[in-house]
Amino acid sequence: MPDITGKTRLLGVIGYPIEHTLSPAMHNAAIAALGLDWAYLPFPIAPGNLPAALAGFEAIGLAGFNVTIPHKQAVMPLLAAIEPAARQVGAVNTVWHTPEGWHGTNTDVKGFIAPLQELDRDWAEQEAIVLGNGGAARAVVVGCAQLGCTRIRVLGRDRTKRERFQASWAGTPLADRVETHPWEALPELLGSAGLVVNATPVGMHPQVEQSPIAAELWARSTPGVIAYDLIYTPRPTAFLQQASACGAQVIDGLEMLVQQGAAALEIWLQQPVPVAVMRDALLARQC
Ligand code: NAP
Repeated sequence: MPDITGKTRLLGVIGYPIEHTLSPAMHNAAIAALGLDWAYLPFPIAPGNLPAALAGFEAIGLAGFNVTIPHKQAVMPLLAAIEPAARQVGAVNTVWHTPEGWHGTNTDVKGFIAPLQELDRDWAEQEAIVLGNGGAARAVVVGCAQLGCTRIRVLGRDRTKRERFQASWAGTPLADRVETHPWEALPELLGSAGLVVNATPVGMHPQVEQSPIAAELWARSTPGVIAYDLIYTPRPTAFLQQASACGAQVIDGLEMLVQQGAAALEIWLQQPVPVAVMRDALLARQC
């Protein structure tokens, strides 16, 4: 627990619900390790209360906050400035206070690509498959493009949502790299993908036995394929267990969570942060 004083600077995370967030454990561990007089708190903000919450944060001098479901898009019109990364994704997950008002960015892209950048791959040679076309899938698409993937194939089960997702990239540099496909196209597409990302909640606790992919489909994947699940509870998911059994290299969502958090904390504190401490705090919570 941080030692609260009369000078403690406040950070937090807004969401609804927010009871299960792991962010306070991760950020407060880093703050303690740095010996700073800061504290990071969870704030349950119902959707209709978002403008009032930001006014209140301004009034009490909150230095910054993370944003999670359902506020990642809704917060955008309330900000004075939005970084290009967040505009591209269409969602904000990190906000900080400035004399001009609240500024927002999105650190999920940085978090997503961090473990992939550790790998020795020629990303320009790689096609990516993204399972799901919700909020996280947008950060994954931008991340795959930043890595250099030439084709990013996004699978969605709802035709209207797929069309909306495809249309949202029109007029952007990603328009000719992003393709949307129905779920049924997966067997055909899997054979040429170097990276397969689960950006659905399928397999998340407590539905731990579920996978977005039928286990036998992995037999169609290419040697050296990377299976990446954004889910971090359980570790590994059924999706990753099945992929691993067929020889795929696997990455779970914990490192993305750590790295997006570290990127946010660096913005607020304006100094390097102890990433290993943040990772250990999350691992301790998962035991
Ligand atoms: P979201 O906006 O609700 O999107 C979920 C997507 O999954 C939608 O496209 C949805 O399709 C699809 N989906 C849900 N159930 C499905 C099923 N049974 N079969 C096929 N598709 C299905 O959620 P999100 O914010 O993108 O989050 C997705 C996952 O990523 C969650 O598990 C979340 O915890 C994880 N995540 C992890 C991190 C991290 O730091 N590791 C960060 C962000 C998110 P419909 O729209 O048709 O329902």
